[in-house]
Amino acid sequence: MPILVVEDEKKLSDILKRALKGERYSIDLAFNGEEGLEKAKRNNYSLILLDIRLPQKDGFTVCRELRQRQIHTPIIMLTAMGEVTDRILGLDAGADDYLIKPFSLDELFARIRAVMRRRRSTESDIIKVSDLVMDRKRHEVTRAGKLIPLTPKEYKLLDTLLSHHGEALTREKLLNYAWGPEFVEKGNELNVHIKYLRTKIDIGSKNPLVHTIRGVGFVLKESWLINSV
Ligand code: CA
Repeated sequence: MPILVVEDEKKLSDILKRALKGERYSIDLAFNGEEGLEKAKRNNYSLILLDIRLPQKDGFTVCRELRQRQIHTPIIMLTAMGEVTDRILGLDAGADDYLIKPFSLDELFARIRAVMRRRRSTESDIIKVSDLVMDRKRHEVTRAGKLIPLTPKEYKLLDTLLSHHGEALTREKLLNYAWGPEFVEKGNELNVHIKYLRTKIDIGSKNPLVHTIRGVGFVLKESWLINSV
């Protein structure tokens, strides 16, 4: 479970890295708000530990910008002050929890586990890759916050691709999942629906998500990851 630690104090950052690695988390570090924001936008972390007082961009701004981009990675804010206003601002900005420095590592681990537990109980309703979000409860799909109307078949196909995002899906698998095991493709149904889907979610985006894998099928993943299929 990858965790991003955004903390400019090198000493604390090192301690957190070592401690979290000891708990079997994989850790990525960022040392200012801008770097933290970029990394959080590009990668799918399980959690972000976000310091409030940061160079370039403070933690509130980073948190707010991530939420505005529909990036819902759980965030625990780290505040040095323990001031009530900081906590309120953090939670208002969309953070899941906060910790007051200095904190014990045991408390940090407990908070991480609690936030992840809470998130797991709701995550199956919402799937997100980059700025594409599917809310299964509401049966809604948005890209960069904009609602995208889909036909039932397109929705099913996208649901399949999202549920297996990052995984190369063969034509057989996609047809099986989205059309059902009884379905026999007569024409070009899969390609046609993939084309509709791309028109709706990818056209006009600098970061197309649906990619063809020649001779295999399709994959939904961020463009910058495409060479790692
Ligand atoms: Ca700081």
